[in-house]
Amino acid sequence: MGLQIYLNGRLVPQEEATVSVFDHGLLYGDGVFEGIRLYKDRIFRLKEHVDRLYRSARAIQLQIPIGPEAMEKAIIDTVRANGLHDGYIRPIVTRGVGDLGLDPRKCSSPTVIVIASTIQLYPPELYEKGVEVVTVGTRKNVPDAVSPEVKSLNYLNMILAKLEANLSGAAEALMLNHQGYIAECSADNFFVVRNGVVATPPTSQGALGGITRETVMGLARSMGITVQERVLTRTDAWTADEAFMTGTAAEVVPVVKLDGRPLGDGTPGPITRRLMDTYARVAREEGTPVYA
Ligand code: PMP
Repeated sequence: MGLQIYLNGRLVPQEEATVSVFDHGLLYGDGVFEGIRLYKDRIFRLKEHVDRLYRSARAIQLQIPIGPEAMEKAIIDTVRANGLHDGYIRPIVTRGVGDLGLDPRKCSSPTVIVIASTIQLYPPELYEKGVEVVTVGTRKNVPDAVSPEVKSLNYLNMILAKLEANLSGAAEALMLNHQGYIAECSADNFFVVRNGVVATPPTSQGALGGITRETVMGLARSMGITVQERVLTRTDAWTADEAFMTGTAAEVVPVVKLDGRPLGDGTPGPITRRLMDTYARVAREEGTPVYA
């Protein structure tokens, strides 16, 4: 059955939810987006995702034609229109229709889209066994070019990294910044654990300010675990007892091998497991109710 899609203020059947070939989201990747989870009729961290969407838009001088509250309502309405209970929500705002030149001044009004769909969950083995990650040659965009803190529609930097990981048969790519320090994975943040201390690179090192990252740091602290945001080298990761990735879709994923080297004893570590379980519980309890 087709989905109902929010497109510029209206809910329309997915066959009618089309955008122009002159939309600059398509022509130039000129736009911003979010990825949000719906768990058991609740949207997790809705406000935080909407805030980040508006921050990303502001960074590229994209004026979203509706305010954050109307955006939250559009998201909730789209979930309701599809009768979803669990799923994945993708708000997208593009610069809109322009001409073939790149000048955004030619684009009269942004295109606003919300897709709410079911989610393809990762196989449970992935969480039980953990995944292998490789460091790739593609460096993270420098912050003074396309800032990694902006969740823009231009994902080629991360796609190039993912292609490298695919070629080497690894599940994910670990990306370094232009100085050779760890930034993040192609679509997830990266953490290491050593001597009971959890560490992740600060966003200034080329990481997106992940909402799962923020949640997991808070959970770890509330469990009495020391959490550091600090510059990390590949050596820090190779010598870690544990490592994991965080992201809205993937949640918390144990990393058991990096660049062919087993981390710790090569199985998901105890702190990673605790954070996986706690995150999974909190994400299903704390969201904004959709049908209330
Ligand atoms: N880094 C990148 C490049 C991403 O695309 C994502 C997914 N949005 C993340 C990190 C994780 O962010 P979040 O926890 O907000 O999903």
